[in-house]
This record gives sequence, C-alpha cells and structure tokens, in this order.
Amino acid sequence: MRKARNGLAIKGRAGAFLRIAAVLLVAGLLSACAEVKETKDTLFQTSTINALLEGVYDGTLTYGELKKHGDTGIGTFDALDGEMIGFNGMFYEIKADGVAYAVDDSMKTPFAAVTFFEPDKSTAIGSLPDYKALEEYLDRQLPTKNIPYAIRIEGTFSYVKTRSVPAQKKPYPPLVEVVKNQPVFEFHTVRGTIVGFRLPEYMKGLNVPGYHLHFLTEDKKAGGHLLECSIRKARVEIDFLTKISLALPEQAEFYKIDLSKEKQGEVERVEK
Ligand SMILES: [Zn+2]
Repeated sequence: MRKARNGLAIKGRAGAFLRIAAVLLVAGLLSACAEVKETKDTLFQTSTINALLEGVYDGTLTYGELKKHGDTGIGTFDALDGEMIGFNGMFYEIKADGVAYAVDDSMKTPFAAVTFFEPDKSTAIGSLPDYKALEEYLDRQLPTKNIPYAIRIEGTFSYVKTRSVPAQKKPYPPLVEVVKNQPVFEFHTVRGTIVGFRLPEYMKGLNVPGYHLHFLTEDKKAGGHLLECSIRKARVEIDFLTKISLALPEQAEFYKIDLSKEKQGEVERVEK
C-alpha cells in the first residue's frame, strides 16, 4: 500500500513536472511566434548614419547577431572595411579591391540595416537608362513616401558603377574624408542583384533618406555601393515595412560624439 502510494506520489510529481515542461514548451513556442511577428515588416538597424559620418567605425554587433534580425540588407564592417550586401540569408563584404567575400558570423558591423525580406509588390521591368530613372520608376510603385521600403532587384544590367571604402586606422577620419579616395568599379553587361532601402525624409540623422542601394554580381565575386546603373531587364521586388527597430551601440565613442548637428549635406556627399 505504502509502496503503491509512493509510486503514485512519484507519478504525481513526474506528472507535475511534465505539465510544467509542457507549459514552458508552449510558452516558448508562443514567444518564438511573437518574435517572428515582431521581426516581420521591421527595419532593424544598428547605430545611426550620423554616428558613422562622425567616424564611429568600431564594430559593435556581430553578423551572427544581425542575422537574427533579417536576411536581407546593407551596411559596413568594423573599421569601415568595405560595403555589405545581404540577401537570402547570405551576407557579402565588398572590400576596397572590389572583390566580394563571404561574411563570417563573428565579424562585426558599426552600421547596418536589415529586414526579413517578404515582397509586397513584384514587377518586371525592361530597360531603364540610369539610376535617376530607376528611382522614378520605384517611386511610382510606392503607396506612400512615409514608410520604409526594402528593395531587391535581380536582372541584367548594361552598366553598373559602384564604389567601396578602404579600412580605416585610428584616429578614424570622418566619412566625408574617407570617400574622397573611394575606389570606383564599373561593370558592363552584367547579371546581378541590387539590395537596399528607400527611407522616409523623417529618418534623416538615423539613416539615409531616399534610396540607398548596394550591388552584387550574379557570380558573387564583385559589387559595392551603387552609384549608377542602366537596367536592361529586371525583376523588382519591394517589401513595405511598418516597424523600425534601432539598436544603439553601448560604446564610449558613440556616447562621446556630438550627434546634435544637422548633417544632411554630408550624407549626400558620401552616398552619391
Ligand atoms: Zn552604401
């Protein structure tokens, strides 16, 4: 009798344990779902464009961590060592030699923006003569200029011009000084992918308002920050974003710099 009771007691305890485990499992699944919902249609970015302009180039977030917030995006690397483009969960570093390298999860970024790309709109386009025509075409596809958009364009380009930036040494010069010596690359009749964002004017100071696009060749060997392009034929995909998540660096350089200045003129000089 006693034995049986003990047996029962154990069963009771084991049952309670299983019930608690089940509750924890369900809670875990629910919070995982909540996390997925939170990241959907979210622009996640680390640091701010004005901090980058001021020379805050020390990487603070690993690419392993960044990948938890998106599979598609653009950015740069620790010490400003090149341009980043990512899509389909794969991230690439285009260094100052113009060559694209696969990004390791342990590498860090001082500034990047990503999202889990789910296009809300997809169109096929024929030839577009230049970057300006592309911007005008994209603008016509958008329901409003007041939300962020992630953009992916895959196709054949008759011409592409990109740039990258060389890794910097401390004390870091401001970005306007770095881009004075930026290496520029040209491609003729090339297949590849453009990835980037169109952000609202009200995001200035945080990121680049308007279009900011990067390019990678189809063979994933070259690319950079897009300066000019002529499209022959392409598929354009646009993801309408409704949330912004900003991760600020917990770092002395970021805490020390003066971020009260208006720097839109500098943004235009470094991006174009
Ligand atoms: Zn760029």
